[in-house]
Amino acid sequence: MLVTCPVCGVENSTGGLCPSCYLRENPPFSVKTPLKRFVCPLCNSYKKGNRWIQVSGGNDPFVEIALDAARHAVHLESSDQVAWENQPRLSILGRSGEALPLSVGVRVEVTGRLRGGGEAYTGEAELEVRLEKRVCPSCSRRKGKSFTTILQIRAENRGLTSGELETIKRIVTLSGGLSHVVSLEEEHGGVNIKTSNSRVARRIADKIRAVFGGTLSGTAKLVTRDRQTGKRVYRGTLLLRIPEYCVDDTVSYCDRYWVVKQVTGEKVVLSGLDEDRVVAVPWARAAGIQLVKKSGDYHPAVVTLRTSNMLQVYDMVTCENLDVEHGLWLDMQPGERTRIVRLDGKTLV
Ligand SMILES: [Zn+2]
Ligand SMILES: [Zn+2]
Repeated sequence: MLVTCPVCGVENSTGGLCPSCYLRENPPFSVKTPLKRFVCPLCNSYKKGNRWIQVSGGNDPFVEIALDAARHAVHLESSDQVAWENQPRLSILGRSGEALPLSVGVRVEVTGRLRGGGEAYTGEAELEVRLEKRVCPSCSRRKGKSFTTILQIRAENRGLTSGELETIKRIVTLSGGLSHVVSLEEEHGGVNIKTSNSRVARRIADKIRAVFGGTLSGTAKLVTRDRQTGKRVYRGTLLLRIPEYCVDDTVSYCDRYWVVKQVTGEKVVLSGLDEDRVVAVPWARAAGIQLVKKSGDYHPAVVTLRTSNMLQVYDMVTCENLDVEHGLWLDMQPGERTRIVRLDGKTLV
């Protein structure tokens, strides 16, 4: 007896939903989503079960990994409704980015024939493959053996400040070589950054030096010989010494006092403390710059008296009146706030 399907109105002999409406409501296949795969950022191999699989070396390793994962995520039920004809067809919908971690969207299409009538059946689904970053064991081993560079960052005669540490960590993260950074450890008031790639270490060092200045030196030491390849294995050390002084500190250079105005990867810019003069000292000649006073050693002061040839200031920390003997104070007026520093028994503004 033929009845009409309550959903689409087509006459059929099932006594209820027609076969195509039934399959729409009860899909005879399922997909698992989202899927997760670990991908090695160094060699693009991916983890499948307990094994790491090398990609074939085609154009896009992430697409290859996502399709392989998706292929195993489609489950065709042994349906008495549909005779499956082909393997599921997979196509890439898109991806969330170019670098790990990223997600790849995959479209799944399954086809078959309805049992009985023999009409074509097509089902569709979408799934998401999340690719996460994890260094594979082989790369970890390679890292341990191959040219490993330790970048040591030290400040002259002091520990790194917390602000400097923050900046260094940010530079390491942003310099894109994070997958080559084995560790970042604070030690002896400085930082040791171990990398599996000497170029990455050098790039990080240059970026840090562009901010803090200083001098970079390096050594490479033969550690061992690789037993399998016979290649020499070196361990390099890069030492970045950043200066003791920071911007706004007072330094001596060429028998004069200066305030540090700017520190870059190329030079230190100094402004004369008691004369109107600015010099740029390249790092090759910067060894003669010595810290005299930290900027925090300055005292806030206010100008109390001014005559034609002298200036009196009130030190707001020690509460004393001081005569200023040197300084670029010629246009300062009583009541004006300033900061003072005592050097060689003299007060400088
Ligand atoms: Zn129907
Ligand atoms: Zn790897």
